[in-house]
Amino acid sequence: MITRNALLWLSQQEGLKDLATRIGFFKRLTTRFVAGDTIDEVVPFIHRLNVENCTASFDHLNEAVESSDEAEREVAEYLNILTKIDEQRIRSNVSIKLTQFGLGLDPELAYKNARRIVEEAHRRGNFVRVDMEDSSVTQVTIDIFKRLRAEFDLNTVGIVLQSYLYRTYADAQALVNLPARIRICKGAYNEPPEVAFPDKKDVDANYVKVMQLLLGSGIYHGVATHDPKMIEATIDFATREGIGKEKFEFQMLYGIRRDLQRQLARDGFNVRIYVPYGKHWYPYFMRRLAERPANVWFVLKNLAKG
Ligand SMILES: Cc1cc2nc3c(=O)[nH]c(=O)nc-3n(C[C@H](O)[C@H](O)[C@H](O)COP(=O)(O)OP(=O)(O)OC[C@H]3O[C@@H](n4cnc5c(N)ncnc54)[C@H](O)[C@@H]3O)c2cc1C
Repeated sequence: MITRNALLWLSQQEGLKDLATRIGFFKRLTTRFVAGDTIDEVVPFIHRLNVENCTASFDHLNEAVESSDEAEREVAEYLNILTKIDEQRIRSNVSIKLTQFGLGLDPELAYKNARRIVEEAHRRGNFVRVDMEDSSVTQVTIDIFKRLRAEFDLNTVGIVLQSYLYRTYADAQALVNLPARIRICKGAYNEPPEVAFPDKKDVDANYVKVMQLLLGSGIYHGVATHDPKMIEATIDFATREGIGKEKFEFQMLYGIRRDLQRQLARDGFNVRIYVPYGKHWYPYFMRRLAERPANVWFVLKNLAKG
């Protein structure tokens, strides 16, 4: 049986990425997790989400860009997303990755590019979430986020932390003191035992610990998970501590547990769906397969259907 680590390894293979992206046939398999190729294809879906009382976060798929020109195109795409959100009157913010804006080329370039998006979001009264990537960039991502946060208010820019990293509880404490808005998730990359809990039960226990710290802070945070145990722990903690439903939001990914997304929204919780789109789907798609290797069968079944 293909393992999580093997799928995460495949997600980082540039050759496969280029091949898979170029062959249109493979793209068909991604539709469960990727909402479309272009923003115009995705907007109607977000309208529907809004009708169901869910909000969204747009993610234009791309990461580890290899030239400043490509990073510039990503900036243009995000400026366009922010315009579209206002024009179409949809309730959505945006999620960005710093390697998409040139972090691997020059951290200063990534900062400047991210700043342009955050400034535009600020002008429009919107919000930018800085996604967290693998542990080689955790510190620089936090450093750049802090610079952005020093220039823009709490409700303009936020960050993501991953409960699989040993360092995360301390990071959460420091960031809450800034203060900062945080999305807590388990973490999606292949990390060595030197930096991350190898056992799922420790990742889950740390998730609950960080979630409690966040909810107890009185700041509006995002609890990103599809795990019913994490959701139950969050609802139990909020109920026990008298923390209202409007004080935090659950966040889930496009295509995963639609039933749970709808149920939580019907129960009166704030629910935000992360909606990825674009041509550079390969690493994102492979990480989704890795989270649930049984998804590989789903993909193969669709392949067989032709
Ligand atoms: C809104 C959002 C934003 C995120 N942003 C980041 C980020 O910035 N950085 C980062 O490293 N990670 C990010 N992630 C991914 C996250 O780290 C996890 O890898 C992912 O959410 C799976 O963990 P889980 O909490 O759902 O729990 P798990 O224990 O992995 O899964 C619990 C249950 O959820 C369902 N499920 C989970 N994943 C899948 C899947 N792919 N396909 C089908 N069913 C599934 C299954 O029923 C599974 O049993 C984000 C996740 C969300 C929801």
